[in-house]
Amino acid sequence: MIVRLLFFVLVFAICWIVYRQFTKAIAGKNKTPAKKNKDTQEEAMVKCAHCGTFVPTSHAIYDQHQTPFCCIEHKQEASR
Ligand SMILES: [Zn+2]
Repeated sequence: MIVRLLFFVLVFAICWIVYRQFTKAIAGKNKTPAKKNKDTQEEAMVKCAHCGTFVPTSHAIYDQHQTPFCCIEHKQEASR
């Protein structure tokens, strides 16, 4: 009777370990593309000095004082 119980516990433990490994593998797979997306979204954002819109630093337009703007129109309006 005890041997059968031990066998049952052992089978349960193996199933649990397999299940843990399986969920870990799935979590690892899901993590990789999520991390990639995070890297692309990690570009610093700057606030337009005219309208307050947040724009990525690569898309921002700067005036002579390094003030960021979302577009040329707002840069020209602010410099007037
Ligand atoms: Zn703007």
